[in-house]
Formats: sequence, structure tokens, C-alpha cells
Amino acid sequence: MFKILKSIKNIFVHIRTSLKFIFLILIATTLIVGIISLFYRPMYSVTLNGEFIGYTTNKSKLQNRINEYIQNGDKNIAFIDIQSLPEYKLCLLKRENASNDDKIFEKVKAQGTTYYEYYAIVEDDEEKYYVSSKNEAEEIINDLKEKKSRNISDIAYTQVHSTELKDFTDKDTVISKLYEKPIVVASSGYSSYSGKKIISNAKPSSAVLGIGLIKPVSGTITSRFGARASGNHKGLDIAAPTGTTVAASAGGTVIFSGWDSYGLGYCVRISHGNGVVTAYGHCSKLYVTKGETVSQGQAIAAVGSTGNSTGSHLHLEIRVNGTPQNPQLYLYK
Ligand SMILES: [Zn+2]
Repeated sequence: MFKILKSIKNIFVHIRTSLKFIFLILIATTLIVGIISLFYRPMYSVTLNGEFIGYTTNKSKLQNRINEYIQNGDKNIAFIDIQSLPEYKLCLLKRENASNDDKIFEKVKAQGTTYYEYYAIVEDDEEKYYVSSKNEAEEIINDLKEKKSRNISDIAYTQVHSTELKDFTDKDTVISKLYEKPIVVASSGYSSYSGKKIISNAKPSSAVLGIGLIKPVSGTITSRFGARASGNHKGLDIAAPTGTTVAASAGGTVIFSGWDSYGLGYCVRISHGNGVVTAYGHCSKLYVTKGETVSQGQAIAAVGSTGNSTGSHLHLEIRVNGTPQNPQLYLYK
């Protein structure tokens, strides 16, 4: 009985000793950790491409900042190409080592390349203006189309991917800079040609008709007045490149400017008084409208090949009281 009591007492003594020991270890550990944490703290050492670039205490905050930079929300940045991302290593460092997130962020940024995306408005294959969005580019083209800008066929837009960001021009400025007043072909019912330039100072031919005539264009005669295999030719054909200015042979009133459905295509007829009318056929552009007074030598149209025509030329008619005359009696003799 006594023996049992003694052994129980022994066990208690043993447990007490053990507890004391564990307690001592705990206190010692706390003390050591406390002392260490007075001078040291856990930090991340950050390296980029193997090169040390700084310390941070808050790895996730720094990494979020970098991620936000890469997946930026700027609509004109297509993407940012970062060569490599920083690597983090946890270590215990003396407290005097400061966290330098800003420096790390700048270093990461510095080795990235930004690719911008925007749109260029192109005229004759030359990038003229830059706009931020595809919408703006399309609106510019559509607006110029609606206004029938003369250069619309030379204007386009293209997407630009570049590491260089250009200055953007606002939509309305681009439109007003690019817009060219149309030279309207007669089908649209009006003409906006405003340059009343005299393009010829040629001396009028002898006044058989009571008026002096000048050549509307210079060029080679390709078909004369008179009988032809395909019927009577009521005028004179003068070959000239498309776009060549056609001058009024004499001053007068425009009595027709538009599409001639008898084969002359876009055509101008001018009444000079005394029953004399001149006609200019197959034009590509018409610069005058019906009722307009024109002076001799004034630009009235441009040579073309509209209507019943196989090549660019001017069909010139001179009629007196409705009867076609041989133009070579007066011009291109
Ligand atoms: Zn002809």
C-alpha cells in the first residue's frame, strides 16, 4: 500500500518537473522571438532577371500594382510587354532595411514596352491625322462621304500598332481639314464650282458666225464632222486626257448642263446669241449649271469618256439655228 502511494507521488513529481521544464522552454522561446523581432522582421527580397532590386513587406500589394499596370485600362494601350516578372524570396532582415515598393515598381515598368493602338486617317497613303478610336475614324470617313468631299476616294483609315503614341486630332478638326468642296457631276443637279478662272487667252477665230470662237481644248482630231460608217457625225472629236479643262469657246448662257441621253454623256450646251449654240460632250465633270452666264475661255467642264464613247475625248458641236456646222470651218482648221 505504501509502495503504491510512493510510486504515485513519484509520478506527480515527474510530471511537475516536466511541466516546469516545458514552461521554461516556452518563456525562453518567447524571449528569443521577442528579442529577434525587436531587430528583425520577415521581408521579401525581390529580384528581377536575377538582379536584386529591393525589399518589400507586402508582396501581394506590390504584385497587384504590377498586375494592374500590365492589364491597364487605357483604351489606347493594346498591351504591355513585360520581359520578366519579379521573383520574391522570404527572409528575415534587420528592421533598418526599408520596404521600397516604388523603386521596385519603377524598375519593373522600365523594362516593359507599351504597345499603343489607335487609328490613322490616311490620304493618298499618307498618315495625316490620328484619332483614338475606330468609331471616330469611321465617323470622319462617313461625314466626308456625306458631304461628297472631292478627295473621298483617296481617304481611308487604318489601325496603328506602335510603341509610339501620336497626338490625337479631334474629329471635327480632321473633317474640316480634309474636306474638299465637291466638283459635282451634273447628275446631282447642282454645281458648286466657284473658280471662274479664264483658262485661255487664245485669239478668237475669224467671226464667220458673228462671234469669235476659241479652241475649248487642245489635242488631236480623232474624228471629223460629217458622214461616218455608223451615221452622220454632228461634231468634231478632239482627243485629250480625262480631266483636261474644257473652256467655253465663246461667252454666253448655259442652256444645258447634265446627262445627254442621245450618247454625249455629261454635256454642256452654251447659247451665244445669233442662233449659235456650242455643245461639249463626253465630259467627266461639269463645272457650270443651266442658266449660268459664262465668259469666253471659262472652265466649264473636264474631258472624259462618258456616254457613247470609247476613249477620253471632247465632242464639240457648233450649231446655227439647230443645224450642225462643221467646227473645222472655224476651229482646228
Ligand atoms: Zn463625236
